[in-house]
Amino acid sequence: MKISMNQHLVKLSNKSLVLTIIKEQAPLSRAEISQRSGLNKGTVSSLVQELLEEQLCFESGPGESSGGRRPVMLLFNQQAGYSIGIDLGVNYILGLLTDLQGNIVHEKKVSNPSTRPHSILKAINTLIRELLDNAPSSHYGVVGIGIGVPGVVDNKGTVLLAPNLGWKNVHLKEGVEETFQLPVLIENEAKAGAYGESQFGSGQLSENLIYVSAGTGIGIGIILKGELYRGVNGFSGEMGHMTIDINGPTCRCGNRGCWELYSSEQALLLKAQAILPTTVKDNITLELLLKEAKSNHQEVIELFHEIGTLLGVGINTIVNTFNPHRVIIGNRLAEAKEWLREPIEQLIAQNYFQFQRENLEISFSTLTVHATALGMAAFSNEQFLKADYQEIES
Ligand SMILES: [Zn+2]
Repeated sequence: MKISMNQHLVKLSNKSLVLTIIKEQAPLSRAEISQRSGLNKGTVSSLVQELLEEQLCFESGPGESSGGRRPVMLLFNQQAGYSIGIDLGVNYILGLLTDLQGNIVHEKKVSNPSTRPHSILKAINTLIRELLDNAPSSHYGVVGIGIGVPGVVDNKGTVLLAPNLGWKNVHLKEGVEETFQLPVLIENEAKAGAYGESQFGSGQLSENLIYVSAGTGIGIGIILKGELYRGVNGFSGEMGHMTIDINGPTCRCGNRGCWELYSSEQALLLKAQAILPTTVKDNITLELLLKEAKSNHQEVIELFHEIGTLLGVGINTIVNTFNPHRVIIGNRLAEAKEWLREPIEQLIAQNYFQFQRENLEISFSTLTVHATALGMAAFSNEQFLKADYQEIES
């Protein structure tokens, strides 16, 4: 029997709904799925049967009964497959292998050999190979790879511009897909970080949140009404290049006085040169400055405070623009939260629009450096689960 397009779509979305409920609320019985989804018991039973055959869920022992026969409980089979999530930073590459639920199974971090596309592609390939070697055997194996990059990515996965890597029009997706013959997703790292926080971090509690990725550069990821806002072509969130001083220095993007020139890790390292002895000038890292601050080096602590205030300037604009429930500061600078928190909060407290502070939470990433890689693995898992339905129906 040939089913109509509409029936086809209903079946797809019903099955997707059932799997989502199992994935997010398991353990639960068929009757509970029927109650929560509004689908009748017969439909739920046949969709669950398909999911059991596809090994995406499994049955466990009986649950609590409200009288009568005890129902069989259903669980999501998070180990039916795995995804690889990669955070391509300016000076590091972090790779995670996660199960379909986002639990980290293996992790590896390497330093960037250089920022040239060819060298980075080689390093990413080596990293992916190691993660693949560490994947436990499973029904679907590794289902995809997601790579978060510090730049502007179009909807086709081309890195149009990554100023801090010096990249223009780099076809990263094709390079990795060709080598591994797996689906590859490329996304801006701040968007991936925002998604990671909304799925696994403190963002789970907020429908409207802005993730501020403060690393070598600054970008933001916008979650509105529980969904990532990408913009028409995927270019939203380039707030690091918001001009805060029209007479400021020229940025790599061509504008003057961009926010990230004052409050990013790059700005911190540059300013630290003036306060640290010449012997260490070439080797100043965030890690070194964190160590100095911990051992009570006052000038370094003041420098972190200054960066915090300048971060607060941009965050104030974010608050005034989006009226979010939560602003989460993530990426490398989140490691300095001990010294950044107060100046940021002070600046927000001075906001003329006092009502903006109602229901507003400013926090630091609970996933710290994992947010982007976890977000990318989650994108890959989702794409796999969706693609799976399409394949079954065709
Ligand atoms: Zn700029």
